[in-house]
Amino acid sequence: MTDLISMTIAEARNGLANKSFTSLELTDAHLAAIEAARALNAFVLETPDKARAMARAIDAKIAKGEGGPLAGIPLGIKDLFATKDVRTTACSKILGNFVPPYESTVTSQLWRDGAVMLGKLNNDEFAMGSSNETSCFGPVVNPWRREGSNTALVPGGSSGGSASAVAALLCMGATATDTGGSIRQPAAFTATVGVKPTYGRCSRWGIVAFASSLDQAGPIARSTRDAAILMRSMAGHDPKDTTSVDRAVPDYEAAIGKSVKGMKIGIPKEYRLDGMPAEVEKLWTEGAAWLKAAGAELVEISLPHTKYALPAYYIVAPAEASSNLARYDGVRYGLRVPGRSIGEMYENTRAEGFGDEVRRRVMIGTYVLSAGYYDAYYLRAQKVRTLIKKDFEDCFAKGVNAILTPATPSAAFGVGEKGGADPVEMYLNDIFTVTVNMAGLPGIAVPAGKDAQGLPLGLQLIGRPFDEETLFSLGEVVEQAAGRFTPARWW
Ligand code: GLN
Repeated sequence: MTDLISMTIAEARNGLANKSFTSLELTDAHLAAIEAARALNAFVLETPDKARAMARAIDAKIAKGEGGPLAGIPLGIKDLFATKDVRTTACSKILGNFVPPYESTVTSQLWRDGAVMLGKLNNDEFAMGSSNETSCFGPVVNPWRREGSNTALVPGGSSGGSASAVAALLCMGATATDTGGSIRQPAAFTATVGVKPTYGRCSRWGIVAFASSLDQAGPIARSTRDAAILMRSMAGHDPKDTTSVDRAVPDYEAAIGKSVKGMKIGIPKEYRLDGMPAEVEKLWTEGAAWLKAAGAELVEISLPHTKYALPAYYIVAPAEASSNLARYDGVRYGLRVPGRSIGEMYENTRAEGFGDEVRRRVMIGTYVLSAGYYDAYYLRAQKVRTLIKKDFEDCFAKGVNAILTPATPSAAFGVGEKGGADPVEMYLNDIFTVTVNMAGLPGIAVPAGKDAQGLPLGLQLIGRPFDEETLFSLGEVVEQAAGRFTPARWW
């Protein structure tokens, strides 16, 4: 019998088409894997009945030759995506048992194309975090461990459940969201492929909002090709999201295997950080060599405002979050903690419903937007954002097709190891990824090697607006050179 869980989406698609197995068999195999992997805490809600019903329905369609591009493929959904009649919490106590009466646009497109939902995946509360430790359901465990150690490591965040589940073969792919790195950093920590599309490429409608000018949905998968397959279904114009762009969705998969000969790849000197681990530096050099061997031209570039990206992000993102999260007041959704007056009810609900990190962001955001400080913080951060965007535009104007950087400054760290005393320690994880959100550009993280302790490390490629195809072509080159990485099963 074929191993039904370690295939890629592309392989499963062939198997389903050849009738080697049914979607129900594929779905059952994944449901069993999920059940055996509860130690990872990747799923916050398993939906086996719904999964089997969807699989049966799609099997009937496949039999009639009406499958759709994702027919019968079992996926996991980050709990930030509203799923009709299925509990959606953003992993916050404040949403309680909220059951949306509507489906997010991105997930509805996946179901339109025949995918099967296995359940909802854990994430940092409201997607605020880089380790999946702020979830009200508790941390997710990375299926990867340091060689010879059984210390529990984080899978990164905020899409930690998505990354962990895909790496541990619990689902064939997953939805995720990225506001400052939440797709790419967990992908790098788990040896999966993560794509943050251009701002406006995927609809944000029905996704719990964190920072609306930065949030973007994207896939996490086990290969570059699989990420391209998922992207095609997730992307597209949606009149319900005014920031979604009306542009045809290309066949991203066609970019896989396309020659990268003659492409100009920028290596930004500002990303060479002091104290960067030698392994990360080495991986970066190796990645550049692979692209060169494939015919690309490497050029040194400068993105001079890089050093301001993280501080500016940690003003803009909390500012937007404080405004977006004002709607959670105990009146309409989820948790309500009574008080003697309506004001006290709001206060009690928000004090009890939000976790520490979310409260911190709401306070920072409220402060930087307040009358006396707006110009000094928020407005200035927005100006910095424009300069960061311009840095990239200047490079692209000089003919650079894409930019190669490390995805993260280190490999996965231990649960409870970072950010306890100083939140900035955690924020530093996003140093290579936030610039991309600030500029609205597409970025992909591809597994590229391992550190001395046997943990995966990823490389990031940053592209021109709406040129995800180039990222898929380049990502495939890296994947072919580096090979695939699978964690040894211990759970
Ligand atoms: N780690 C970043 C933050 O905490 C990014 C999170 C995200 O992309 N959702 O804000």
